[in-house]
Amino acid sequence: MRTAIVNLGGIVSGDLETPTIAGDAILMDGGVIEAVGSVPDSALKACDVVIDADGAIAAPGLIDSHVHITFGDYTPRQRTVGFLESYTHGGITTAITASEVHTPGRPKDREGVKALAVAALKCFEHFRPGGMRVLAGSVILEPGLEEADFAELARKGVKLAKAGFGAFSDPIEYAPYVQMAKRHGMITTMHTGGSSIPGSAGIWAKHVKAADPHVSFHVNGGPVAMPDEDFPVLVDETEIALQVCTAGNLRTTLLVADLLARKGRLDRLLVATDTPTGSGIMPLGMLYTLTHLCALGNMEPEIAIAAATGNNARIYGLNSGILAPRRDADVIILDACAGGSKSDALSAIRNGDIPAVAAVITDGVPRFVGRSRNTPAAINRVRVAESRIMQDFSGSSH
Ligand SMILES: [Zn+2]
Repeated sequence: MRTAIVNLGGIVSGDLETPTIAGDAILMDGGVIEAVGSVPDSALKACDVVIDADGAIAAPGLIDSHVHITFGDYTPRQRTVGFLESYTHGGITTAITASEVHTPGRPKDREGVKALAVAALKCFEHFRPGGMRVLAGSVILEPGLEEADFAELARKGVKLAKAGFGAFSDPIEYAPYVQMAKRHGMITTMHTGGSSIPGSAGIWAKHVKAADPHVSFHVNGGPVAMPDEDFPVLVDETEIALQVCTAGNLRTTLLVADLLARKGRLDRLLVATDTPTGSGIMPLGMLYTLTHLCALGNMEPEIAIAAATGNNARIYGLNSGILAPRRDADVIILDACAGGSKSDALSAIRNGDIPAVAAVITDGVPRFVGRSRNTPAAINRVRVAESRIMQDFSGSSH
């Protein structure tokens, strides 16, 4: 499928190094981006769908790197179906599992934790709710796992390992398990902060530093934060990516963003939601957190968007998250919300208003164009200008 977006009022790249791109159009073909900036008329004539952005802006689809998936589009924690599809209406085009820890009756034995990760991985290879990509299958580190187990998991395609919910008496004991997972090429993640499940111990900077995972999960607390004096330890004494989550402590989100900015290391800041949890289902969670970073933390919106897209993509080795040729064609169109005081998406974000999601395209396929089910309407009239496809893209069928 060949899809183009024209009449863009701006393009946010998702790349921290060059956060904006000049031009007003994007061309996608066969699930990848072909051109960003300008698209010749001859190429537009060959498109199956042309979307007129009417002055709204494009950004990479948001990557939520902390989603509590289980199986199917169902969250046992909030007893709700369809939440992932709803997240696409908040601009989230990729959900990365926080491990399948919410699966009812989740196994804790060696064979069980391996089977759970493999099963989740394999199921979501063939299931894309609302067009979203779901990176599933994160092995929950439990005592007794051995080198051979990680070799087996890696052979079966498991790419993620999670420290934090295992039956260890002291969190310091995670360190050799995280290192084992790393030796087998896995991206390793570690719960950070107070315990989120009764009986699990708090994990603070000394534990995270000793384990040295790729990502400190919800460094701002999930939902309860570690002490303030622990934040400089992770920022200054490690190279760990620091993930801030909507369902956590907002004050320490701003604290860690400020510490990283002062150090010139915003490449290590990752935005995620940590939902569904006890905090609920939050389809607009990514938009809220990046808006908070800008309105309360004085971050530029295109930088916050990079933390929610390209930064996550780099750490997790994804081909999405950046608008550039040959990258995955996961693109969203954002605008200021109708009835607000600002006239474009980036000004609205600076003002503390969430932007309107006016279109979501994943894998080069428009999933809806015009109006998100979850945000207010856009001020500009984003619409399908031309289509050779017998399909209603308005999203009204949802
Ligand atoms: Zn979590």
